[in-house]
Amino acid sequence: MLLDRLGPIESKPLKSSSLNNPVIDEEEILVRVRACGVCRSNLHMIEGDWVGRNIPSKLPIIPGHEIVGVIESTGRDVIGLKIGDRVGIQPLYHACGVCEYCLTGRENICPSRKITGQDVDGGYAEYIKIPFRFVYKVPDRLSDSEAAPLFCPGVTAYRAVKYSNAAPGKIVAIFGIGGVGHVALQIAKLWGAKVVAVSRNERHLELASRLGAHSVISPEEDIVRYFRGIGYADSSIVFAPSDKAINQAVNVTKPGGITILGVSGNIRNFQYFKEKTIKGTIIGSRQDMREVLEIAADGKIHTTVETYGLEEANEALRRLKYSEIEGRAVLIP
Ligand SMILES: [Zn+2]
Ligand SMILES: [Zn+2]
Repeated sequence: MLLDRLGPIESKPLKSSSLNNPVIDEEEILVRVRACGVCRSNLHMIEGDWVGRNIPSKLPIIPGHEIVGVIESTGRDVIGLKIGDRVGIQPLYHACGVCEYCLTGRENICPSRKITGQDVDGGYAEYIKIPFRFVYKVPDRLSDSEAAPLFCPGVTAYRAVKYSNAAPGKIVAIFGIGGVGHVALQIAKLWGAKVVAVSRNERHLELASRLGAHSVISPEEDIVRYFRGIGYADSSIVFAPSDKAINQAVNVTKPGGITILGVSGNIRNFQYFKEKTIKGTIIGSRQDMREVLEIAADGKIHTTVETYGLEEANEALRRLKYSEIEGRAVLIP
């Protein structure tokens, strides 16, 4: 499903196209795609919201960056992988390996990184090629479509929760319980924290309760008063794309605490004298990815998915735009 012109999803900008299989070099593998998750960032790119950030950096492009597939062929210098292995691909398609970020566990912000489906062709396709050092074996117990969302929401949630210092006795407030938030909740809980889920969406709050949130609350209520009652949060994590959510998160976090932002927004009246920290986070490193897969292999993270045929990509994205998806939409070629 090729994108050659940006535009509203209602105009069906993705076109079913026939292309030759990508040609691999010595260090690359060719993967036959079995499942690819549909991410809100795909929608932003397709509709042109991110042209100011040079996303996509090429056109035409095949979107998609939460991929599970099977190795079809390998380059001469590939080690540790063979034809037939089931592997996953995350947004981090490549990083330089030698800059100050790559050398300190922060390859996800490498200035010369490449993002799958934004800088290079992604997973809304039958085949994709990728450098072999940037794929991961997928645990057997997970189906293709269950595993696919681990490769973006999973790793994004994981890194955010890691920075939140979730631990026994700590309160973690999570704002936004969609594709990423519902995984973050499970990880924070697994690490022993008390999770308070905040969402406008009634169904998302029900899901949060089922997943074991300590309590759930709508942002329309008096949130600060609520937290004064149960104890302010040691940390807060925001995936809801709203200034209101960000400001509430900072306000319910205790002095000296940390707010992790997975979204952009404006922070008002920041009080330096409370020594709070605000930290951004974006996808995750290969080490983060491996750690998420280990947790998932133990059956400790669950993703909810709805599957669509590859040629229904425009429709799946349209439904995502209007919040009609339960959990994650996954395309199956
Ligand atoms: Zn994504
Ligand atoms: Zn680098």
